[in-house]
Amino acid sequence: MTAHVLRGAGLSGRLKTEIGRASALLVDRGGRPPRLATLLIGDDPSSRAYRLSIERTMLNVGIAHVAIDLVTETTADAVAHVLADLSLDPEVTGVLVLMPLPERIHPRVIYDVLSPFKDVDGITPTNAGRLHMGLPSLRPSTPQGGIELLDHYGIEIEGRRAVVIGRSNVVGRPLGSLLLQRHATVTLCHRQTVDLGSISRTADILAIAAGHAGLIRGDMVKPGATVLDFGVNVVDGKVVGDADFGSVADVAGAITPVPGGTGPVTALVLARNTVAAGLAALGGTLDHADFLRRAAFDRM
Ligand code: ADP
Repeated sequence: MTAHVLRGAGLSGRLKTEIGRASALLVDRGGRPPRLATLLIGDDPSSRAYRLSIERTMLNVGIAHVAIDLVTETTADAVAHVLADLSLDPEVTGVLVLMPLPERIHPRVIYDVLSPFKDVDGITPTNAGRLHMGLPSLRPSTPQGGIELLDHYGIEIEGRRAVVIGRSNVVGRPLGSLLLQRHATVTLCHRQTVDLGSISRTADILAIAAGHAGLIRGDMVKPGATVLDFGVNVVDGKVVGDADFGSVADVAGAITPVPGGTGPVTALVLARNTVAAGLAALGGTLDHADFLRRAAFDRM
Protein backbone atom coordinates (compact mmCIF):
# COMPACT_ATOMS: atom_id res chain seq x y z
CA MET A 1 0.00 0.00 0.00
CA THR A 2 1.37 3.41 -1.00
CA ALA A 3 -1.43 5.79 -0.02
CA HIS A 4 -1.33 8.13 2.91
CA VAL A 5 -4.48 7.50 4.99
CA LEU A 6 -6.41 10.74 5.61
CA ARG A 7 -8.24 10.29 8.90
CA GLY A 8 -11.08 12.58 9.91
CA ALA A 9 -9.92 12.55 13.51
CA GLY A 10 -7.02 14.79 12.47
CA LEU A 11 -9.44 17.72 12.13
CA SER A 12 -11.68 17.09 15.10
CA GLY A 13 -9.70 19.23 17.55
CA ARG A 14 -9.90 22.33 15.36
CA LEU A 15 -13.57 21.76 14.54
CA LYS A 16 -14.46 21.31 18.21
CA THR A 17 -12.63 24.52 19.10
CA GLU A 18 -14.56 26.39 16.41
CA ILE A 19 -17.87 24.95 17.62
CA GLY A 20 -17.12 25.98 21.20
CA ARG A 21 -16.02 29.47 20.18
CA ALA A 22 -19.04 30.03 17.94
CA SER A 23 -21.48 28.67 20.57
CA ALA A 24 -20.05 31.04 23.16
CA LEU A 25 -20.37 33.93 20.71
CA LEU A 26 -23.98 32.97 19.93
CA VAL A 27 -25.00 32.98 23.58
CA ASP A 28 -22.92 36.07 24.29
CA ARG A 29 -24.82 37.98 21.62
CA GLY A 30 -28.17 37.05 23.18
CA GLY A 31 -28.97 34.04 21.02
CA ARG A 32 -30.43 30.79 22.32
CA PRO A 33 -28.08 27.86 22.80
CA PRO A 34 -27.76 25.75 19.65
CA ARG A 35 -30.26 22.93 19.28
CA LEU A 36 -30.62 20.50 16.39
CA ALA A 37 -33.88 18.76 15.51
CA THR A 38 -33.64 15.64 13.34
CA LEU A 39 -36.76 14.43 11.59
CA LEU A 40 -37.04 10.77 10.60
CA ILE A 41 -40.02 9.74 8.50
CA GLY A 42 -40.38 5.97 8.48
CA ASP A 43 -37.79 3.52 9.71
CA ASP A 44 -34.86 3.34 7.30
CA PRO A 45 -32.03 1.48 9.12
CA SER A 46 -29.20 3.55 7.61
CA SER A 47 -31.03 6.76 8.59
CA ARG A 48 -31.34 5.41 12.13
CA ALA A 49 -27.63 4.64 12.21
CA TYR A 50 -26.78 8.11 10.87
CA ARG A 51 -29.02 9.72 13.47
CA LEU A 52 -27.34 7.77 16.26
CA SER A 53 -23.94 9.03 15.15
CA ILE A 54 -25.30 12.60 14.95
CA GLU A 55 -26.69 12.22 18.47
CA ARG A 56 -23.32 11.07 19.80
CA THR A 57 -21.48 13.94 18.11
CA MET A 58 -23.93 16.56 19.42
CA LEU A 59 -23.61 15.18 22.93
CA ASN A 60 -19.83 15.28 22.56
CA VAL A 61 -19.77 18.98 21.57
CA GLY A 62 -22.53 20.11 23.94
CA ILE A 63 -25.27 20.80 21.40
CA ALA A 64 -28.83 19.79 22.29
CA HIS A 65 -30.53 17.30 19.97
CA VAL A 66 -34.23 16.50 19.64
CA ALA A 67 -35.30 13.45 17.68
CA ILE A 68 -38.67 13.65 15.95
CA ASP A 69 -40.17 10.49 14.46
CA LEU A 70 -43.05 10.27 12.01
CA VAL A 71 -44.54 7.04 10.72
CA THR A 72 -44.00 6.01 7.08
CA GLU A 73 -47.67 6.68 6.27
CA THR A 74 -47.40 10.38 7.27
CA THR A 75 -48.80 12.64 4.53
CA ALA A 76 -46.77 15.35 2.80
CA ASP A 77 -49.13 17.93 4.34
CA ALA A 78 -48.39 16.67 7.84
CA VAL A 79 -44.63 16.77 7.14
CA ALA A 80 -45.04 20.34 5.87
CA HIS A 81 -46.80 21.29 9.12
CA VAL A 82 -44.03 19.82 11.27
CA LEU A 83 -41.37 21.61 9.23
CA ALA A 84 -43.29 24.88 9.38
CA ASP A 85 -43.55 24.58 13.19
CA LEU A 86 -39.84 23.78 13.52
CA SER A 87 -38.99 26.71 11.25
CA LEU A 88 -40.82 29.03 13.66
CA ASP A 89 -39.73 27.40 16.94
CA PRO A 90 -37.29 29.82 18.61
CA GLU A 91 -35.71 26.99 20.65
CA VAL A 92 -34.57 25.13 17.52
CA THR A 93 -31.58 26.54 15.61
CA GLY A 94 -31.16 23.76 13.05
CA VAL A 95 -33.31 21.14 11.33
CA LEU A 96 -32.11 18.04 9.49
CA VAL A 97 -34.47 15.72 7.64
CA LEU A 98 -33.04 12.24 7.28
CA MET A 99 -32.94 10.83 3.74
CA PRO A 100 -34.22 8.89 1.93
CA LEU A 101 -37.82 9.96 2.44
CA PRO A 102 -40.60 7.40 1.99
CA GLU A 103 -41.39 7.15 -1.74
CA ARG A 104 -44.65 9.07 -1.67
CA ILE A 105 -43.08 12.16 -0.09
CA HIS A 106 -41.14 14.33 -2.52
CA PRO A 107 -38.18 16.24 -1.00
CA ARG A 108 -39.81 19.36 -2.45
CA VAL A 109 -41.82 19.60 0.74
CA ILE A 110 -38.54 20.37 2.54
CA TYR A 111 -37.33 22.77 -0.14
CA ASP A 112 -40.62 24.68 0.00
CA VAL A 113 -41.23 24.86 3.74
CA LEU A 114 -37.98 24.66 5.73
CA SER A 115 -36.54 28.04 6.69
CA PRO A 116 -33.16 28.53 4.95
CA PHE A 117 -31.92 29.89 8.29
CA LYS A 118 -32.39 26.45 9.88
CA ASP A 119 -31.36 24.39 6.87
CA VAL A 120 -28.18 22.88 8.34
CA ASP A 121 -27.68 20.55 5.38
CA GLY A 122 -27.88 23.39 2.89
CA ILE A 123 -30.52 21.77 0.68
CA THR A 124 -33.11 24.53 0.36
CA PRO A 125 -33.06 26.48 -2.92
CA THR A 126 -31.85 29.60 -1.10
CA ASN A 127 -28.78 27.93 0.39
CA ALA A 128 -28.07 25.81 -2.70
CA GLY A 129 -28.42 28.86 -4.96
CA ARG A 130 -26.19 30.99 -2.76
CA LEU A 131 -23.59 28.22 -2.67
CA HIS A 132 -23.56 27.92 -6.45
CA MET A 133 -23.19 31.72 -6.72
CA GLY A 134 -20.30 31.71 -4.27
CA LEU A 135 -22.24 33.62 -1.58
CA PRO A 136 -22.04 32.78 2.14
CA SER A 137 -24.65 30.16 3.04
CA LEU A 138 -25.28 27.11 5.17
CA ARG A 139 -23.27 24.55 3.20
CA PRO A 140 -24.02 20.83 2.99
CA SER A 141 -21.85 19.33 5.70
CA THR A 142 -20.48 16.32 3.81
CA PRO A 143 -18.88 18.18 0.88
CA GLN A 144 -17.81 21.10 3.09
CA GLY A 145 -16.11 18.56 5.37
CA GLY A 146 -14.38 17.02 2.34
CA ILE A 147 -12.86 20.38 1.37
CA GLU A 148 -11.70 20.98 4.95
CA LEU A 149 -10.12 17.53 4.99
CA LEU A 150 -8.12 18.36 1.86
CA ASP A 151 -7.06 21.68 3.39
CA HIS A 152 -6.09 20.06 6.68
CA TYR A 153 -3.79 17.57 4.96
CA GLY A 154 -2.30 20.26 2.72
CA ILE A 155 -3.67 18.85 -0.54
CA GLU A 156 -3.74 21.56 -3.15
CA ILE A 157 -7.03 22.15 -4.99
CA GLU A 158 -6.33 25.14 -7.25
CA GLY A 159 -5.57 24.15 -10.81
CA ARG A 160 -6.00 20.43 -10.10
CA ARG A 161 -8.28 18.16 -12.06
CA ALA A 162 -11.16 17.00 -9.83
CA VAL A 163 -13.63 14.26 -10.73
CA VAL A 164 -16.76 13.89 -8.59
CA ILE A 165 -18.78 10.69 -8.93
CA GLY A 166 -22.40 11.34 -7.92
CA ARG A 167 -24.65 14.36 -8.43
CA SER A 168 -26.95 14.30 -5.41
CA ASN A 169 -28.07 17.59 -3.88
CA VAL A 170 -26.33 16.82 -0.58
CA VAL A 171 -22.95 15.55 -1.76
CA GLY A 172 -21.86 15.39 -5.41
CA ARG A 173 -23.39 18.54 -6.85
CA PRO A 174 -22.43 20.92 -4.00
CA LEU A 175 -18.95 19.36 -3.86
CA GLY A 176 -18.56 20.17 -7.55
CA SER A 177 -19.42 23.80 -6.78
CA LEU A 178 -17.06 24.00 -3.81
CA LEU A 179 -14.16 22.55 -5.80
CA LEU A 180 -14.89 24.96 -8.65
CA GLN A 181 -14.88 27.87 -6.21
CA ARG A 182 -11.44 26.72 -5.14
CA HIS A 183 -10.33 26.82 -8.79
CA ALA A 184 -10.18 23.13 -9.57
CA THR A 185 -11.19 21.93 -13.03
CA VAL A 186 -14.25 19.86 -12.22
CA THR A 187 -16.03 16.96 -13.94
CA LEU A 188 -19.23 15.49 -12.47
CA CYS A 189 -20.07 11.86 -13.23
CA HIS A 190 -23.31 10.00 -12.59
CA ARG A 191 -25.21 6.82 -13.32
CA GLN A 192 -25.44 7.57 -17.05
CA THR A 193 -21.74 8.36 -17.44
CA VAL A 194 -20.16 6.17 -20.11
CA ASP A 195 -16.74 4.61 -19.37
CA LEU A 196 -16.34 5.93 -15.84
CA GLY A 197 -12.77 4.62 -15.59
CA SER A 198 -11.50 6.72 -18.50
CA ILE A 199 -12.71 9.83 -16.65
CA SER A 200 -11.79 8.84 -13.09
CA ARG A 201 -8.23 8.09 -14.27
CA THR A 202 -7.80 11.78 -15.20
CA ALA A 203 -8.45 12.93 -11.61
CA ASP A 204 -5.84 14.43 -9.31
CA ILE A 205 -8.66 14.58 -6.76
CA LEU A 206 -11.24 11.80 -7.07
CA ALA A 207 -14.35 12.19 -4.90
CA ILE A 208 -16.78 9.28 -4.77
CA ALA A 209 -20.36 9.65 -3.52
CA ALA A 210 -22.36 7.06 -5.43
CA GLY A 211 -23.45 4.65 -2.71
CA HIS A 212 -21.98 1.57 -4.45
CA ALA A 213 -19.47 -0.58 -2.60
CA GLY A 214 -16.41 -1.32 -4.72
CA LEU A 215 -17.43 1.04 -7.55
CA ILE A 216 -13.86 2.36 -7.91
CA ARG A 217 -10.94 -0.10 -8.18
CA GLY A 218 -7.25 0.62 -8.34
CA ASP A 219 -7.14 0.44 -12.15
CA MET A 220 -9.59 3.37 -12.30
CA VAL A 221 -7.32 5.68 -10.32
CA LYS A 222 -4.38 7.79 -11.48
CA PRO A 223 -1.19 6.93 -9.58
CA GLY A 224 -0.67 9.44 -6.78
CA ALA A 225 -4.24 10.79 -6.85
CA THR A 226 -6.11 11.84 -3.70
CA VAL A 227 -9.28 9.81 -3.18
CA LEU A 228 -12.13 11.14 -1.03
CA ASP A 229 -14.56 8.33 -0.29
CA PHE A 230 -18.02 9.47 0.88
CA GLY A 231 -19.67 6.08 0.44
CA VAL A 232 -21.35 4.38 3.39
CA ASN A 233 -22.34 0.83 2.45
CA VAL A 234 -22.96 -2.18 4.63
CA VAL A 235 -21.45 -5.36 3.18
CA ASP A 236 -21.52 -8.59 5.22
CA GLY A 237 -22.27 -6.55 8.33
CA LYS A 238 -19.25 -4.27 7.78
CA VAL A 239 -19.31 -0.59 6.79
CA VAL A 240 -17.30 0.04 3.61
CA GLY A 241 -16.94 2.95 1.20
CA ASP A 242 -17.38 3.22 -2.57
CA ALA A 243 -13.69 2.55 -3.22
CA ASP A 244 -12.22 -0.93 -3.19
CA PHE A 245 -9.82 0.15 -0.45
CA GLY A 246 -7.12 -2.48 -0.96
CA SER A 247 -6.55 -1.97 -4.69
CA VAL A 248 -7.10 1.81 -4.62
CA ALA A 249 -4.70 2.35 -1.71
CA ASP A 250 -2.00 0.59 -3.75
CA VAL A 251 -2.23 3.25 -6.47
CA ALA A 252 -3.48 6.45 -4.84
CA GLY A 253 -1.27 8.97 -3.08
CA ALA A 254 -3.83 9.53 -0.33
CA ILE A 255 -7.22 8.07 0.59
CA THR A 256 -9.91 8.59 3.23
CA PRO A 257 -10.79 5.30 4.95
CA VAL A 258 -14.39 4.18 5.58
CA PRO A 259 -15.18 4.33 8.42
CA GLY A 260 -12.99 7.02 9.96
CA GLY A 261 -12.40 9.34 7.00
CA THR A 262 -15.05 11.76 5.76
CA GLY A 263 -17.78 10.56 8.18
CA PRO A 264 -16.50 12.04 11.46
CA VAL A 265 -15.80 15.35 9.69
CA THR A 266 -19.37 15.46 8.32
CA ALA A 267 -20.85 15.08 11.80
CA LEU A 268 -18.73 17.88 13.26
CA VAL A 269 -19.41 20.24 10.34
CA LEU A 270 -23.12 19.54 10.88
CA ALA A 271 -22.69 20.51 14.53
CA ARG A 272 -20.85 23.68 13.51
CA ASN A 273 -23.62 24.46 10.99
CA THR A 274 -26.16 24.20 13.82
CA VAL A 275 -24.32 27.00 15.62
CA ALA A 276 -23.79 28.93 12.38
CA ALA A 277 -27.55 28.73 11.74
CA GLY A 278 -28.16 30.31 15.16
CA LEU A 279 -25.69 33.10 14.32
CA ALA A 280 -27.32 33.66 10.93
CA ALA A 281 -30.78 33.92 12.50
CA LEU A 282 -29.45 36.34 15.10
CA GLY A 283 -27.76 38.50 12.47
CA GLY A 284 -30.80 38.32 10.18
CA THR A 285 -28.73 37.37 7.12
CA LEU A 286 -27.28 34.18 5.73
CA ASP A 287 -24.01 36.08 5.30
CA HIS A 288 -23.60 35.42 9.00
CA ALA A 289 -23.80 31.67 8.43
CA ASP A 290 -20.31 31.81 7.05
CA PHE A 291 -18.72 32.66 10.35
CA LEU A 292 -15.43 31.20 9.20
CA ARG A 293 -14.94 34.21 7.01
CA ARG A 294 -13.41 36.59 9.47
CA ALA A 295 -15.04 39.65 7.94
CA ALA A 296 -18.53 38.27 8.47
CA PHE A 297 -17.59 37.08 11.96
CA ASP A 298 -16.31 40.50 12.95
CA ARG A 299 -19.34 42.32 11.60
CA MET A 300 -21.70 40.49 13.97
P1 ADP B 1 -25.57 10.40 -1.91
O1 ADP B 1 -26.57 10.92 -0.97
O2 ADP B 1 -24.47 9.61 -1.26
O3 ADP B 1 -24.98 11.44 -2.80
P2 ADP B 1 -27.55 9.37 -3.82
O4 ADP B 1 -28.13 7.99 -3.85
O5 ADP B 1 -28.46 10.53 -3.55
O6 ADP B 1 -26.30 9.29 -2.82
O7 ADP B 1 -26.88 9.65 -5.22
C1 ADP B 1 -26.05 8.73 -5.82
C2 ADP B 1 -25.38 9.39 -7.01
O8 ADP B 1 -24.39 8.49 -7.48
C3 ADP B 1 -26.29 9.69 -8.19
O9 ADP B 1 -25.98 10.97 -8.69
C4 ADP B 1 -25.93 8.63 -9.22
O10 ADP B 1 -26.06 9.11 -10.56
C5 ADP B 1 -24.49 8.30 -8.88
N1 ADP B 1 -24.17 6.91 -9.19
C6 ADP B 1 -24.73 5.81 -8.66
N2 ADP B 1 -24.20 4.68 -9.20
C7 ADP B 1 -23.28 5.08 -10.09
C8 ADP B 1 -22.39 4.41 -10.98
N3 ADP B 1 -22.37 3.08 -11.07
N4 ADP B 1 -21.58 5.16 -11.75
C9 ADP B 1 -21.58 6.50 -11.68
N5 ADP B 1 -22.40 7.20 -10.85
C10 ADP B 1 -23.23 6.50 -10.08
